[in-house]
Amino acid sequence: MPTPRPSLPGDRRYDVVIVGAGYTGLWTAYYLKKAQPDLQVAILESEFAGFGASGRNGGWLSAEPPGQLRRYAAQHGWAAAVDFQQRMFTAVDEVIDVCAAEGIDADIQKDGLLHVATNRAQEKRLREHLPALRKAGWGPDDLIELTATETAQRIRLGGGLSSQFSPHCARIQPAKLASGLADVVERLGVDIFEQTRVTEIRPREAVTAQGTVTADYVIRATEGFTAQLKGAKRVWLPMNSSMVVTEPLPADVWGQIGWDSAELVGDGAHSFCYMQRTADGRIVLGGRGIPYRFGSRTDDGGNTHRVTQEQLRAVLRQYFPAAADAALDHAWSGVLGVPRDWCASVSVDHTTGLGWAGGYVGHGVTGTNLAGRTLRDLVLRRDTDLAQLPWVDRRVRGWEPEPARWIGVRSLYVAYRAADRQEFGGAPRTSPIARVADKISGR
Ligand SMILES: Cc1cc2nc3c(=O)[nH]c(=O)nc-3n(C[C@H](O)[C@H](O)[C@H](O)COP(=O)(O)OP(=O)(O)OC[C@H]3O[C@@H](n4cnc5c(N)ncnc54)[C@H](O)[C@@H]3O)c2cc1C
Repeated sequence: MPTPRPSLPGDRRYDVVIVGAGYTGLWTAYYLKKAQPDLQVAILESEFAGFGASGRNGGWLSAEPPGQLRRYAAQHGWAAAVDFQQRMFTAVDEVIDVCAAEGIDADIQKDGLLHVATNRAQEKRLREHLPALRKAGWGPDDLIELTATETAQRIRLGGGLSSQFSPHCARIQPAKLASGLADVVERLGVDIFEQTRVTEIRPREAVTAQGTVTADYVIRATEGFTAQLKGAKRVWLPMNSSMVVTEPLPADVWGQIGWDSAELVGDGAHSFCYMQRTADGRIVLGGRGIPYRFGSRTDDGGNTHRVTQEQLRAVLRQYFPAAADAALDHAWSGVLGVPRDWCASVSVDHTTGLGWAGGYVGHGVTGTNLAGRTLRDLVLRRDTDLAQLPWVDRRVRGWEPEPARWIGVRSLYVAYRAADRQEFGGAPRTSPIARVADKISGR
């Protein structure tokens, strides 16, 4: 754990106070200060900058949208949805450019993203999804189909078949990005108060045990932790994701795997697995783990159940036989926020001064940057294209009360795992179990 910054010393007054020092809070502070340097901005963080998902994600700086474009299109039309997708493409480079300009070293390497089918049903599903992606703005240069042979030239994944490649993705080291960004924001004059938990957000007030911050705008940037705040229990479901990292692998193992560049890699399973090759030659591999805890409880400091570690080890063995016996140096978990309709939103209410962004459904690394710029424009009342994006001011119904929420989410993931077993067992197409689960979950 890094040495914490000081906590809030007592009651204070700012122009803008942001709750949460993850990427959403940090990017918002960054763009606000860049746009208006005399603006008084503070961030209140319950632990330390990057404690949440921002400091422990899979490092996919990807252009995949933080929600389903067909849902945004249903309300705002396809032109707006395609524009949103274009903004996601350019946001990847925006993050890379800011890191270069501000001297943030986050092990960034833009070698693209590979979705590899690892059984026949996944392969069929990936192909069938392609027309929808084309409609959503993924042109022939944005998403390229690779044969099994072409895929194997990039990575030899156990059971790997054909794949889809996108150049719009970079590998990052997530904690380095979060801590680097926090330092930059602080240098710009933003006050970051750590170990300062906000117990209640009210119009123009953020309340903590150390004092109350009054501000013209209070921005909630607590994504997966939002359910802990008064009145927000059912807004976003805290979905768990768990990861393991191997020891650095020797050259001969990398030679067998054939993963020479830093493409981010995912499979097409329903209980999706995501991977990266780190700058120091390790494999990081993530998956769902225990999907959800009763009452929207979040993780206990990232501790990861032994069963989950064993499940991830089994996936490592399956996909990377050459690394089957590699030591796992570390395992951790985190929470991301899932809205009931699986679509992120950004909003500022000028009447109350309350704003928020989040619910990126596991695609927040790039989405938070776009959200930060959007919040800047909303707070500063700029009438820009960003302020018109289809995720702005989106209202969605909350999740079901307990125990329905817990039973529902747990059952869904039991179903997705059963569907994956059928498909790995040789089912030629998407398991009907998964189709039913998708309908129920609204995914
Ligand atoms: C294991 C894992 C892997 C992921 N992999 C990827 C990936 O590869 N690519 C991708 O695009 N997305 C990924 N995501 C999602 C992505 O990391 C998140 O969507 C994104 O980081 C959210 O940023 P945030 O700032 O909104 O929230 P967070 O990073 O969670 O930050 C919220 C902050 O608020 C603080 N906080 C909470 N409550 C309070 C309070 N009451 N008072 C004060 N502070 C509070 C927390 O301590 C935390 O620091 C992953 C998520 C997880 C968990």
